[in-house]
Amino acid sequence: MFITDAEEHRASLEAVLLRHASERVSLEIVENVASWAVANHVTVEGNPLASAIPARNGLSRSIVLQRKMDENDTAGILGRLDFGGHSRERSLLVNPKLFLRHTVLHELAHLENNWGQAYEDESDSWAFERLSAQWRG
Ligand SMILES: [Zn+2]
Repeated sequence: MFITDAEEHRASLEAVLLRHASERVSLEIVENVASWAVANHVTVEGNPLASAIPARNGLSRSIVLQRKMDENDTAGILGRLDFGGHSRERSLLVNPKLFLRHTVLHELAHLENNWGQAYEDESDSWAFERLSAQWRG
């Protein structure tokens, strides 16, 4: 799957955050997450497609998302879902909007639960519970 410009989905993603976050989270859509982290003096491991940034220096919590993603990028995230036992749910991520909603909810799971990087599967489960609640209405 290709994401040509995540900005096109900003309204949808912000609505998801408004609905599922306990307090304000700002959505930063950037060219490169690692470069954004350096410029904003926060620590991000490796060069992820998305990252959750806790509140800092009076700034609200943030979710940082890479603006464009190619087939390799999205395959990395989708592959993790298979590996973590979420292959059934993975098949529901059929378009960029659902893919990005899942990605943002996954990052929100880290923030809401104070879950570090060891909690990838838990964060995916948390995200899918909320995505499917949205499908039910
Ligand atoms: Zn994660």
